[in-house]
Formats: sequence, C-alpha cells, structure tokens
Amino acid sequence: MIMDACHQRDFSDRIMDRYIRFFPCLSDPARRSSLGLKVALVMLHLVYAGVLFALDRYLIEEIKIKPWYTASYLLLFVATLIQYFLTSCSSPGYVLDAMRAANEKDIAFSKASKQPASSNNVNVVVTIDRSPSGNNVQADVTSWTKMVMDMYPPRTPLRNFTCSYCHVEQPPRTKHCHDCDRCVLQFDHHCVWLGTCIGQGNHCRFWWYIFEETALCLWTGILFISYLKADIVRAWWKDAIVIVLLITLSIALIFLLLLLLFHSYLVVTNQTTYELVRRRRIFYLRGIPERVYPFSKGVCHNLYDFCCHRSNIYNLEPLPSAQMLEERSRPYTCSDITRCRCC
Ligand SMILES: [Zn+2]
Ligand SMILES: [Zn+2]
Repeated sequence: MIMDACHQRDFSDRIMDRYIRFFPCLSDPARRSSLGLKVALVMLHLVYAGVLFALDRYLIEEIKIKPWYTASYLLLFVATLIQYFLTSCSSPGYVLDAMRAANEKDIAFSKASKQPASSNNVNVVVTIDRSPSGNNVQADVTSWTKMVMDMYPPRTPLRNFTCSYCHVEQPPRTKHCHDCDRCVLQFDHHCVWLGTCIGQGNHCRFWWYIFEETALCLWTGILFISYLKADIVRAWWKDAIVIVLLITLSIALIFLLLLLLFHSYLVVTNQTTYELVRRRRIFYLRGIPERVYPFSKGVCHNLYDFCCHRSNIYNLEPLPSAQMLEERSRPYTCSDITRCRCC
C-alpha cells in the first residue's frame, strides 16, 4: 500500500515537472491558483450561456428570426470576458514604476522641487515611457523623496510615509499590497477574483468590468425567466437545472449591483475602498470630518479624471491644504446649489 502511494506520488510529480517544463509560469503556486480562478470563471460563463442554448430550442429558432438580438448577447458575453482579462493583466500603478518613469522624465521632479505641491495643490503628472531601459531606480531616489515630501504638510516625519517593506517613499493615497508585494498608487483593494490589485492604473477598467458583468448577468437572468415562462412541454429536470442556475445568478447579480453602486459612489466622491474603510488608520485623514471627501474636486471633475485617465500617466495627488479642506467642509447653501458647487 505504502509502495503504491509512493509510486502514485512519483507519477504525479513527473507529470507536474513535465507541465512546468512546457509552462514555466505554472511553477509559482500563486500564479497557478490565479490561473485556476481564471479558468473557473470562463467555465462558469460557458456553463450559464451553454445551458441556455442547449435547453432552449426556441432561443435557437429565435436566432433565425432576430439574429441581432442573439448577436448582441454574444457580443456582450465576449466583451465581458475580454474586459476581465484586460483588467486582470493591467497594471494598477506601482510606485516603483512611477519612480522609474519620473527617473526618465526629470521634468516632473524639477516642477515639484520648484513649487511645493502641498502649498499650491497642483497635481504632479508623471508620464511613462514603457521602454525596457531605466531600471536604475536608485539613481533618482533623492529627487523622488523630495517630490513626495512636498506632497505632505511641512515637517511630516519621513517614516510616516516610507514603506517598511519596499523602503520607498509613498505619495499620498498609496498602500503596500502584501499579495503583490509592491506599493500601489491610489490603492483600492487586491482583487482575488482578478488576481491583481485595483489602483490608479486600472480602477476605470475594473468599473467597466463590473458594469459589463452586471449587464450580462441581468440579460442571462431575463433569458432564463423567459425560458421558464414559455408555455411548452419539457422534462422536469430541465426546469430544475434552470431554477438552480437562476437562483445562483440572482445572488451574483445582487452582489454585482451592490459592488457597482459602491464603486460608482467612490468614483463621484474620488475615494478608494481602502480610504473609506481604514480612514482612521491613515495618518493624514484622521482629523478630517467623515462627511468631507478630501480629494474630491467636484462630481464632474472627479468623473472626468476617472474616465479620461491615461494608463501611461501617473497622477500623483498632493494632500489638500487646510484652506481647501475648510472650503470642502463648508455646509451647502442655496447659492452653492445654483452655482453647482458640487460639480
Ligand atoms: Zn511597499
Ligand atoms: Zn495586490
């Protein structure tokens, strides 16, 4: 028995070694589990859409009558999966990349060093040139430190914004992700489902992914309901399968809708999940009243920044000055509404 077990283990190890030789990326357990999740997600989508097309022969007939309807559904199905993979492979905006970009484009450094950002509240924009050169991160560490220091109020101790894992100075709104083992700009959360962090670089993509997934869920649910409501004779087990799938789909839909609403709220108020949940633990947000959104520049401006953010640009936001915070915490009056202060 023991010999059998050893043989089986040797056999499975040999198969695993062979797979790793062909796919070296699978040697890392984290990447293996991430890949497993991606395969599971694609399978889940295929099962829900596949059952629909396999059981509902009227849907197949409807394709002939209204081909655009089915084509639109399939288009949404493919677009959602593409959006999932694009989001999953996108960079959330790592601090090391921003340092590297700043290293290449010294303009941002000189701009920040001449004008203290915390005093005039001007965002520092760092453009990325995605060339493989520029790996010398250490070279401009002092410039980076100076630039980051200017984003905080004067005399803020350096240790307050230095990452104890990467040992880099974090601009405001940055957090170290323990799963990615890197500091992420405008860190929102680490998404296990996507296998990546959500930050400044891919928050917009993430929102669109949730939107498309919600729309797909809703449309699939409607197709399931119309199948159940159709006045045709069919086997009981077909109904049972569709009912089980519809229940799980409804649960997923509720979750997705709440997630979409929550992230839409974050977008219009220019907040991140981390800032909302851990507000009292972030040293520069501790004293700010709960109802004040320190980084909000008005709904329209926030939406513009969020939607028109280019993936090759890092927008490093300085902390708002005391005067700006006071202005943002002022209660709304009738004249504010007519002047569209919230926009
Ligand atoms: Zn870090
Ligand atoms: Zn992460």
